[in-house]
Amino acid sequence: MKQIQERLRALPGVDRVLQDDLIVKLAGDFPQTLITEAIQQVVDDLRQQLLDQDAKVADEQLQTENVAAAAAELCRRSARPSLRPVINATGTLLHTNLGRAPLAEQALQAICDTARGYSNLELTLESGKRGHRFDHVEALLCRLTGAEAALVVNNNAGAVLLALTALGKGREAIVSRGELVEIGGAFRIPDVMEAGGLRLKEVGSTNRTHLRDYQNAISEETVMLVKAHTSNYRIVGFTSDVPAKELVSLAREHNLIVLEDLGSGMLFDLSGYGLPQEPTVTETVEAGVDVITFSGDKLLGGPQAGIIVGNKDLLAKIKHHPLARALRIDKLTLAALETTLRLYLDRKDAIRNVPLLRMLDAEATGSEKRCKKLLKSLQGKVAAQLEMIADFARVGGGAMPLAELADHSLAIKPDTLSLEQLAYRLRTCPTPVMGRLQDERFLINLRAVRDDQMVDLTASLLDVLMEK
Ligand SMILES: *Cc1c(COP(=O)(O)O)cnc(C)c1O
Repeated sequence: MKQIQERLRALPGVDRVLQDDLIVKLAGDFPQTLITEAIQQVVDDLRQQLLDQDAKVADEQLQTENVAAAAAELCRRSARPSLRPVINATGTLLHTNLGRAPLAEQALQAICDTARGYSNLELTLESGKRGHRFDHVEALLCRLTGAEAALVVNNNAGAVLLALTALGKGREAIVSRGELVEIGGAFRIPDVMEAGGLRLKEVGSTNRTHLRDYQNAISEETVMLVKAHTSNYRIVGFTSDVPAKELVSLAREHNLIVLEDLGSGMLFDLSGYGLPQEPTVTETVEAGVDVITFSGDKLLGGPQAGIIVGNKDLLAKIKHHPLARALRIDKLTLAALETTLRLYLDRKDAIRNVPLLRMLDAEATGSEKRCKKLLKSLQGKVAAQLEMIADFARVGGGAMPLAELADHSLAIKPDTLSLEQLAYRLRTCPTPVMGRLQDERFLINLRAVRDDQMVDLTASLLDVLMEK
């Protein structure tokens, strides 16, 4: 007991640590309250450990300069923003947990220009009268998709909810059992339909739904036929679904609306990159689908947004529904979306400037060459076996679950660290790195890593894997 008292007395007080050189130097970089709190925290923790019979505290830990060093580290950590850039070395281009699509430089510039001052967000400059924020992208979206009208909201889940509510509340919608999609989190098509006040009539079976299934289900109460893209799973084998065009003919006979949730939504065909052939937004408009929804931050490569295109009268109803106000898009997103859409006016511009489209092209990202270079920078300097292997990048993000983009990755087998330790240390680097575990190795794929991130990535790998 005597010894504990003695050691407690040796613990420096906050005032003494505040005078330490290291802490004095911190004052220019961090708020004083943060510094004082950090010291208090370190001192309190040490005191608690000293009182705890089982905890081991070394004498050096009690020295003022070491308490100061621990406090400085704590201070640096707590001053770091919670939302930070992460290097995406997973090979998944659209990773919802990592924020989906990176934006084009032009879109970033538009965000800055709009955020810095005022804008004509809801003002028609010619007349001086009130305008609407949707107006900035409606003509563009119509031009790019061939639709009569367009509307943008906060995200695609919101777009689906809004369209269903505005067009079908209190009525019944028919949807195939093969398309009752759950897209991570809490977004399930059936739940959204219920939240929108629609009754859901499920038809067909999980793997096969025919036109006659929809036909037999139509009643007095039916207002809509709903089609949803099965973005994050595929039912393969003995399957059949009804193409939009046939649903449209059936709907016309019965005076029903066809709504299709495309999920990702592409403005042009991407099968040239080895991706599966899927209907583009334009093809879906041409098929006669009345209301089409898709995301801004999936294959489009723009900011988070929900885009609705389609029939003018139906969209007018949607625009005037009170929920449209609740789900409205913010001005910064709108600036980025308009700029991204403008790049699509010329396909070459889009491919050159929209990062997501660039990443679909292995040649353009030079990921194999960069992988070789990374291997060379690490070889002989780290405690691990390294090898460049043939691998695949994936689109991910609830779009094209099975699509594989041929690529290469760096496979790492650490000598002493476990794979979980390696993954943890990379995630907790100053610039966190996310890779993936596969077949007892840690893989680093460079398809979604920017050139300017290579220095940080290399430094983090060296630091984490260096023999200590
Ligand atoms: C991703 C997706 C959604 C949700 O879109 P968010 O933009 O994330 O709200 C809805 N439906 C489908 C089919 C999707 O793939």
